[in-house]
This record gives sequence, C-alpha cells and structure tokens, in this order.
Amino acid sequence: MVNPFTKKGKWYKANLHTHTTVSDGKLSPAERVEQYRKAGYHVLALTDHHVTQDVRGLSSKNMLVVSGIEFHPRCKREKTNHHFVGLGVPHGLKFSRPKDANPSIEEVRRAGGVVILAHPFWTGIEWSSIRTLKGIDAVEVYNSTCEKIGRATSENEWSYMLDHGMAIPAVATDDTHAADGPYVCHAATWLNMPSLTVANVVKAVRTGCCYSTHGPKIHDFRVEKGKVKVRCSPAQAIHIMSKPAAGYKFIPTGKTITSLTAEVDPKWPFIRVVVTDPQGRKAWSNPIAAS
Ligand SMILES: [Zn+2]
Ligand SMILES: [Zn+2]
Repeated sequence: MVNPFTKKGKWYKANLHTHTTVSDGKLSPAERVEQYRKAGYHVLALTDHHVTQDVRGLSSKNMLVVSGIEFHPRCKREKTNHHFVGLGVPHGLKFSRPKDANPSIEEVRRAGGVVILAHPFWTGIEWSSIRTLKGIDAVEVYNSTCEKIGRATSENEWSYMLDHGMAIPAVATDDTHAADGPYVCHAATWLNMPSLTVANVVKAVRTGCCYSTHGPKIHDFRVEKGKVKVRCSPAQAIHIMSKPAAGYKFIPTGKTITSLTAEVDPKWPFIRVVVTDPQGRKAWSNPIAAS
C-alpha cells in the first residue's frame, strides 16, 4: 500500500458502490449520475446485482462513471452469501456466477476488475470465513445503506484482516438504493490520482491511495522523524491505531482539534488514523509504515 498523503496527484471524491433501476435501485443510471455529480462527487461506480451496464455517454468532464457489478457467492460456513463489488469490469462481462467465493473473485479479477468485500458486518461474515478468501483487493469499512440497521461500520472485520497479515485497504461507500435520503450522497472514498480515468481508479483502490469518510476530512497523515503527523477537519478525537493492545493512542480533548503530532513506536507493524468529528462521524486512513 502507498501513502496517498505523500503522493503527488489530485483528490477525487468517489462513491464506489451504487444501484440503479438496472437492478434494485430507485433511480435510472442517468438520474443517479446526475445526483452524485450535483453533490460534488467526481467518480461513481454503477454496481448492480449480477449485471454490468453500458456506461458510455454517462461520464462528463468532472464526473467519471465506472462500470461495475455486485455479486453474491455463497458462504457455506455462515449459511449465507458473501457480497462483493467488482469495479472496472467490462460491460457485457459473461459472469458465470460460480457458487463459491474464490472462483467468483478470480473470474472478476481475470476480467480486469478490482474486488471489494462489501459490508461484512451487515452480512454477518466471521473472520473464520473471511480468512479463506483469496484475491480481495479492499473492504468496505463503512457502508451508508447498512446504517439503517446499525451495521454500517465493518472496522472490526477490517482490523482482523490487518492484524492477521491480510493487508488490504478500506473504502467507504453509499451502496445507494434509495431515490434520496440520509444514505444517498453521504459516504465517500477520496482517491488520490494523477487524473480522472478508470485505470487510475482501479489502481488507487488496489494500492490504498485513498481514504474513507462519512463526514470528516483527512488533509495529511504521515510519519516523519519518528513522529506521526495528522491534519484534519475539526475533530473531537483522533485515534492512532496499530496492532492489537499495544498500538494505539487516543487523544481526547475538550474542544475540537485539527492537527496532531505524536511519538510513534517504529516497531509497530503499521499505523492508521481514525478521525471522529463532533457529530460522531468518522474518517479512516489506510495503514502506512510506522517508521
Ligand atoms: Zn450488498
Ligand atoms: Zn449493494
């Protein structure tokens, strides 16, 4: 993974998981694109269930529409289905819908797609199942639509992955179904890219050149001369997270803060930052080296 805050490039606001009337979403693809464009997003991935769609003609100068798919192979252990989002897959992909997760992931990756494990907390997939997955590129740390039942945040599932050497980045998505309301144009993955292209979106997700949010912004996060530095929008708390038990600091404050410099143990395997704003909304960086 790379550190997007030390990379050259521009920041683009993305929703990487969206449904339209092509499956069970309430707006047509064109209406959905217009809705997100007006809300200040630069990237929208259309990820209808088990179907790709022709996105030609939907992009404009500052809005890139990405062809995607959501697929649901079975999870035998939990007697349910995994949900995965594939991005950057060609329209007309002949997806054979294998029954099991790993052949499905492999098929989408072979078609050039980046594969995201969607909302594992909502689905109820345990670490014992997640650990058997091969080839996933990222995981949803936050999914707006899952907020409806209080299962928006899959930070625990992501932490298990990081703690056990499954070093993948996180994204935040809306998983938009509704026509409008609190779960639409809410979460975002901010991607740092040289320019607005599908290849750059795929690369930024795969390499973790991004951060996730449903509120606060992270302006900087880096380690310099043994110290971690953070700059962000007004926060009520900033957590520096690392491995279990040993690796986090919590900075509670009576008022909001917008920057932090703190010692960091170079022996920690990685660090990441979680910024919480006064409304309790969060932003998550991806992990970076602690030294
Ligand atoms: Zn889903
Ligand atoms: Zn979905």
